Amino acid sequence: MRNILLKIIILRFNFEIMFRNYTCGELRLSNLNQEVILAGWVQSSRNLGGMTFIDLRDRYGITQIVFNMEDDENLCLAARKLGREFVIQVKGTVLERSSKNLNRPTGEIEIKAKELNLLNASETPPFTIEDESDGGDELRMKYRYLDIRRNPVKEKLLFRHQVSLETRKYLSDLHFTEIETPYLIKSTPEGARDFVVPSRMNQGQFYALPQSPQTFKQILMVAGMDRYFQIVRCFRDEDLRADRQPEFTQIDCEMAFVNREDILSTFEGLMKHLFKTILKIDLPDFQRMSYDDAMHHYGSDKPDLRFDMKIQYLNSAMQNKGFVVFDSAELVAGIVCKAAAEKYTNKDINDLTEWVKRPQMGAKGLVYIKYNLDGTIKSSIGKFFSDEALQQLAIEYGIEKGDMFLILAGDKDKTIKQCGELRLEMAKRLDIISKDVFSAFWVVDFPLLEWDDDAQRFFAMHHPFTSPLPQDLEKLKSNDREILKSIRAAAYDMVINGAEVGGGSIRIHDRALQSQNFKLLGFSEKEAEEQFGFLLGAFEYGAPPHGGIAFGLDRVCAIMQGSTSIRDYIAFPKNNQGRDTMIDSPSTLDQKQMTELGIKIS
Ligand code: ASP
Repeated sequence: MRNILLKIIILRFNFEIMFRNYTCGELRLSNLNQEVILAGWVQSSRNLGGMTFIDLRDRYGITQIVFNMEDDENLCLAARKLGREFVIQVKGTVLERSSKNLNRPTGEIEIKAKELNLLNASETPPFTIEDESDGGDELRMKYRYLDIRRNPVKEKLLFRHQVSLETRKYLSDLHFTEIETPYLIKSTPEGARDFVVPSRMNQGQFYALPQSPQTFKQILMVAGMDRYFQIVRCFRDEDLRADRQPEFTQIDCEMAFVNREDILSTFEGLMKHLFKTILKIDLPDFQRMSYDDAMHHYGSDKPDLRFDMKIQYLNSAMQNKGFVVFDSAELVAGIVCKAAAEKYTNKDINDLTEWVKRPQMGAKGLVYIKYNLDGTIKSSIGKFFSDEALQQLAIEYGIEKGDMFLILAGDKDKTIKQCGELRLEMAKRLDIISKDVFSAFWVVDFPLLEWDDDAQRFFAMHHPFTSPLPQDLEKLKSNDREILKSIRAAAYDMVINGAEVGGGSIRIHDRALQSQNFKLLGFSEKEAEEQFGFLLGAFEYGAPPHGGIAFGLDRVCAIMQGSTSIRDYIAFPKNNQGRDTMIDSPSTLDQKQMTELGIKIS
């Protein structure tokens, strides 16, 4: 060990040496008898008496190194002292292995070591650096640098790199220019809270971190840049959900002199390019579905179309038959679960009833009708509906023996959304979603405005810069809330496998229309001027017609690989409390910094 320690000192500080001439993933039988130098981390070592085997790992793979007592006792003894994750350099000869490991690309060869240099020692890692680690989430986040050494995490970062690279290639080929926009800006109204940064030089004033570069990219269109994109970090101070991060990355794009069709085809092209070049999958042309149809049939503006199970509307069939819950409801609706009647036990139904009653769902109860294979019917509303009536229902709704009807009732909008959730949940519980299918399509014609009962005002469904559809422009002048609610926007979302991967719109480029829209959204003229004067001003200098879109890069990666968590695709993500446990942030500032910033905490 002494020898080795000496060498550490020499090697650590000798920056002239060649550390490696091959990686741990590339040697094959074709390299037999070559003298090679490898460097990496000790994945594992096995001491078999006369021989010691070390699995040496780097980013590219694992190569087996063999130390033989008979050849060099000291070297072999030194190898035995190496612990997991020690960093070493090995010089040796490539030999054919007698027992080959064909699961590993380098598994037909091994390196017979002639020299071993310890480049750095390591503490025993707090969890195993294996594909299946024994470390829990929190621990792995705290030691993310060890976590990233694991294949599944590393592979996801490499995958993300490929997605970014192919995005840049595709867009650059179409003459998009990548332009950086500032991070220290003022509030952009995308609907979430801003993260703010105090200004030392302008005490009492704050920058906001961008929720997206929305206004800047529109101004770039006014500036004549024509086709812009940016792979850019966005910041939103929202309560975190499983697939949300306070900072995330968008593929942000804007184009001038385009109509909606141009944008949809350009970015459908982007997604097809990513799937083709990275996954070798040809996505079929994307369907278009209106927001109204998506809500009506699937109870969601981002339906998962890998399975059917459309919402069935039952008012005429089931009301006024003496069941007060249905009779008093604005809407009775449900879904048909194919071939589920026999599979789904009473216990399953009870569990599901509890599930629909959770506050997040808020249904009052759940009605089931099972059409058993033997022709009998079992239902929780058997008291109110005769078997004949339920048979009639089956005929009307194309229900077959073996199917199960699940029915909810209540306020119209809520019930539709609940049916949408129930549809998804049942698809999961019945395991009918094919894993290797991608359903990608556009949802178009979103409402422009959303009424908020609590605030008693309209909010922009997308953002305030979205243009109404030309055929609905007249309605903007109305004072009737229902008419205003019916205005459709030139907005679109790309949906893949039930997730919104991107969204955008054709923008307003006319100052008067933009002012009118601000007014509808409850901004006084003064407020609009204060917050968006720069944009309104820019619109007075020849703003071209323009529109754009932004994709969630983290989410695109996750969807492409069939993963549900975007966190896996972020090198240093935050946990559910918005904390980075590795660097322990957020944290307090020292008094001096606070004073400099003019921040007093009482
Ligand atoms: N800025 C929008 C967003 O972040 C996207 C867009 O309209 O281009 O959702």
